[in-house]
Amino acid sequence: MKKTSPASKNLTATVSQISLAQREKRNRHRGCVLWFTGLSASGKSTIANELEAALFARGCQTFVLDGDRVRHGLCSDLDFSEKSRHENIRRVGEVAKLFSDAGFICLAAFISPYRADRNLVRAMAGENFVEVFVNAPLSVCELRDPKGLYAKARAHQIKNFTGVSAPYEPPLNPEIEIRTDKLTVAEAVQKSIRHLQKMKFIKAR
Ligand code: ADP
Repeated sequence: MKKTSPASKNLTATVSQISLAQREKRNRHRGCVLWFTGLSASGKSTIANELEAALFARGCQTFVLDGDRVRHGLCSDLDFSEKSRHENIRRVGEVAKLFSDAGFICLAAFISPYRADRNLVRAMAGENFVEVFVNAPLSVCELRDPKGLYAKARAHQIKNFTGVSAPYEPPLNPEIEIRTDKLTVAEAVQKSIRHLQKMKFIKAR
């Protein structure tokens, strides 16, 4: 999927007086996009929110974006067709990049089933992109089914449901992989924090 170019030709960029380096110096950590991808009920939102709480407690600037939040506002015009899913991820990717440019650690939790869409977001965010594959077998996700969505999908009450009637393309080379059928939420948070320290997005304590 290609990056879109602006519809208007009459655009002039303004230059901020505050650089990213200044923001990062004040925050004492780097801005980045942590992109959580995985099946529904794999644990993306649970881990993103626990990780945010841990990072916030360390004094980091953080914000979580998730499907339920954007689908009520920014993306309320989009459904779950393949075309709309592409557009949903493109918009969210742009928002996540804005947060990263503002010096935040933006934790984005989206099924984002298509590899090309995730690669587009990776290209937008550049070196500040961390793909977190929240991986659990479909059978485990289906057993958890916290919102009853798999049951509805199996009963044909929901169309295009990832893993049931729509594809999921797993990441080939994610920066972090979390097997939520093997690690607890606390272990997943620790693993992510260790990785962020290793990549020098946050400082070791
Ligand atoms: P997603 O955002 O991927 O759709 P959620 O985080 O909303 O998934 O739901 C995952 C469910 O699985 C929650 O009810 C959570 O309590 C449960 N769960 C059980 N074990 C884990 C684990 N190790 N990591 C994350 N979630 C887990």
